[in-house]
Amino acid sequence: MRQYLKIEISHLLGSLLIFIPVGYLLHQIAASILLAVAAYMSKHGYYLVKLAYLINQDTRIDPPYPADIWGLVYKELSRFRSRSRKRKRTLSRFASRFRKVTSSIPDGLILLNKPGFIEWANPAANQLLNISWPRDENIAFTDRIKQEGLNEYLMNPDYSRPMEFPSPANKAVVISLRVTPFGGKKAQRLVVVRNITEVYNLNQTRRDFVSNVSHELRTPLTVITGFLENLGENEMLPFQKRPFTLMHQQAERMNSIINDLLTLSRLEMGVAPSAEKPVAIPELLVRIVDQAQLLADQKGGYTLTLEVDNTLWLLGEESELMSAFSNLIFNAVIHTPPGTEILVTWKRQENEACLIVSDKGSGIEQRHIPRLTERFYRVDKARSRQSGGTGLGLAIVKHIIGRHDGELRISSQLEVGSKFTCAFPVNLTLDKTVEEPIE
Ligand code: ADP
Repeated sequence: MRQYLKIEISHLLGSLLIFIPVGYLLHQIAASILLAVAAYMSKHGYYLVKLAYLINQDTRIDPPYPADIWGLVYKELSRFRSRSRKRKRTLSRFASRFRKVTSSIPDGLILLNKPGFIEWANPAANQLLNISWPRDENIAFTDRIKQEGLNEYLMNPDYSRPMEFPSPANKAVVISLRVTPFGGKKAQRLVVVRNITEVYNLNQTRRDFVSNVSHELRTPLTVITGFLENLGENEMLPFQKRPFTLMHQQAERMNSIINDLLTLSRLEMGVAPSAEKPVAIPELLVRIVDQAQLLADQKGGYTLTLEVDNTLWLLGEESELMSAFSNLIFNAVIHTPPGTEILVTWKRQENEACLIVSDKGSGIEQRHIPRLTERFYRVDKARSRQSGGTGLGLAIVKHIIGRHDGELRISSQLEVGSKFTCAFPVNLTLDKTVEEPIE
């Protein structure tokens, strides 16, 4: 920089050296100084105009550059231009690769801005949702896709579960729609749409199969049970007694399995329960705990305690909630040794209403916990069978709680005990002031 300053000073001095002697000879020194400065400034004016022209034209600025300070300006401008050209090239290469990648993805991708208008979509979005970009840019997503419940789904900040419905582009295709918020304050949303027809049909076939088999088995079983009951009323020879008892027990077991399988099928196929009916959970729990107490008394020595918030009701399907809560409370008696302390709590907890069934039983090994809600998964198969378990109870519970927008959480520690929590969103609760306290 100092070098350029020296050059500029030398240029000014050179100009003065030329003009001042002439001015001296003509007795016009002041005018000659002015002329010298003007000549020096006109050089800057020239380069300044040239610079404006170069910037405006966006042309290359090739060497040779002027030897003065303008040389530095031109050189830096040229370097800046080549750098930004390189950046542009990289950016356009990246954009074209991004376009290629997003075009080859079989899932539909749609970017929504904060108010829910379409900003961009990949070609698969056109096949699955009839959304084409740039045609549909700036159109509200819900104006483009008319699907019951979609508006509510997009408004709800909890996108943990996908939404499934037939594709508006082809009704034979079933799609799953998932939303991921991103950007500043997570105001923008990426909608990912996937074709799940195969999985859906496979699941449907499995559900139909299980449901049909269960229905088909029910009739012969009813006949067998009927005959067994008739037989039981007659006198039996001693050697017939044991086979008869075993047959009766196994028929009962089969009946329980079929009933549980049919319950699961009904839960899987049915629509979510209407959230209109208020259910008096405190009363419901009193009834269940009373029944569980009978079993506990038979097994012996249990301490069964119930702590409920009497003002807390839930909107839901009473029979389903009864079935889910019974399963958990009876499990606590069935799968723990006599003498175990069992506590059933129904209360508000943070933003949720929670039913907690905790026991100080022998607990469950950590590795089993994630699998407990699978159908027929039992920690100890033999023991579960002996106690009349089907291995379907927790699968039913999980389904019922899910259908009520809730979550089943299980925690357990060996030799310490287990805790099963059904957490429901607060918007499903009702605050009832109960006049008569529940016994
Ligand atoms: P089951 O018909 O065997 O009770 P579930 O689906 O209800 O089937 O439960 C699955 C398994 O989870 C049970 O077989 C048992 O091993 C375990 N389990 C459930 N509840 C408890 C509990 N409170 N304590 C210990 N183990 C439990």
